[in-house]
Amino acid sequence: MATITHFEIHDVRFPTSLTGDGTDAMNTDCDYSSAYISLYTSSDLVGHGMTFTIGRGNDIVCEAIRQVASRLVGKSAEELFADMGKAWELLVADPQLRWIGPEKGVIHIATGAVDNALWDMYARARNKPLWKLVVDMSPEELVRSAAWRYISDAITKEEALAMLKKNEAGKKEREAHVREVGYPAYVTSAGWLGYSDEKVARLTKEAVQAGFNHFKMKVGASLENDLRRGKIIRSIIDDPQYLPEGSKARDPNGPELRGKNAGPTGAVLMIDANQVWDVQQAIDYVRGLEEIKPWFIEEPTAPDDILGHAAIRRALKPHGIGVATGEHAHNRMVFKQLLQAEAIDVCQIDSCRLAGVSEVLSVLFMAAKFGVPVCPHAGGVGLCEYVIHLSLIDYIAVSGSMERNVLEFVDHLHEHFLFPCSINARGRYNVPANPAEGYSIEMRKESIAEFGFPHGSYWVKAKGGKQ
Ligand SMILES: [Mg+2]
Repeated sequence: MATITHFEIHDVRFPTSLTGDGTDAMNTDCDYSSAYISLYTSSDLVGHGMTFTIGRGNDIVCEAIRQVASRLVGKSAEELFADMGKAWELLVADPQLRWIGPEKGVIHIATGAVDNALWDMYARARNKPLWKLVVDMSPEELVRSAAWRYISDAITKEEALAMLKKNEAGKKEREAHVREVGYPAYVTSAGWLGYSDEKVARLTKEAVQAGFNHFKMKVGASLENDLRRGKIIRSIIDDPQYLPEGSKARDPNGPELRGKNAGPTGAVLMIDANQVWDVQQAIDYVRGLEEIKPWFIEEPTAPDDILGHAAIRRALKPHGIGVATGEHAHNRMVFKQLLQAEAIDVCQIDSCRLAGVSEVLSVLFMAAKFGVPVCPHAGGVGLCEYVIHLSLIDYIAVSGSMERNVLEFVDHLHEHFLFPCSINARGRYNVPANPAEGYSIEMRKESIAEFGFPHGSYWVKAKGGKQ
């Protein structure tokens, strides 16, 4: 039986700050980075996982990963797989490491990397992609696999079990359907703040041609500029002449678009402020953008400010604009309160901010119970590879809802992964289908050798260039 024997950690950084990719009102020079771990066993079974940062500090996360992962060395893989909820508790329960959390910040995202690696290993051990491993679980195992502490006032295990059992009947059909049509995606790459108007217009046209119908734009640096850029994007996505040949406008009042401020072609625009505003400032600023008809404002204020989000949502409701957040919601308790306080219209889980698949499952259960659609945060590096699995789990096994949901897609850095995610001709994610791909996060050895920091060939050369 395989025992976890050791692990390797890599600090991998991609120089995305050179191109303006990933720029928004808060994050102005990002080097998309991966704090990456490979778990090894006494057999040939391995597990890969990572968490995401945007550059400096990635080394600190790597050190935290080392501390957390040490707890798995010497453990039997099958014993961990038998109760993934218990394995998760083992990772968060170190009495000394707990002090530098608990369940937040560096130590928590590091825990996410390790838990994700363990789930990757479990999926590989069963020769299934991660999503398939999870949707094939019995409702009992699925409930057992989640993180349950501190959320029973919002959902109990019994409630989750009842919900999953109710959904059992339609699972096969939903799986077959999504394999055929793909999972709906939206595009963010067109609207980074660092891009010129011309680049935004060109990228928006390309995205419409590629079949996308939900588009996100970064806002918050200047109302005047945001309005101008928003109008440029609207003028393209609302104009039937740019639609791909043979495709028709969608009914803006149809069930999947109702309440989303869709334009005449059925296109939806979302805006994202990345936490720049105080509460009243957010309300005033977003009212100023009513003309471009956003579906929601994402991260209008500090990610920990649950009541602030609730106030913004109440104030924007009469304007038909919703509130979304979650990429910086650091644990399931924050999501619990966002849902309890009716602070969000859309729940944006992050595969690397939460402490791995087990904690994500808890949030999926709560969001389904509260009837809030889950539209995961992606972008970054590796996040798109991860989140398609989570959205498939949500649709097939948990909420049963897909067509009102959209999954973020950013077309950067996929080439560094052995099993990169992909988008079909209808602008939807393809379903990961290779039984060997686990959680789809295994990085190419050449990429680690080139972009490993600071000794990878790229960084050695870049430093040489500066001297
Ligand atoms: Mg965002």
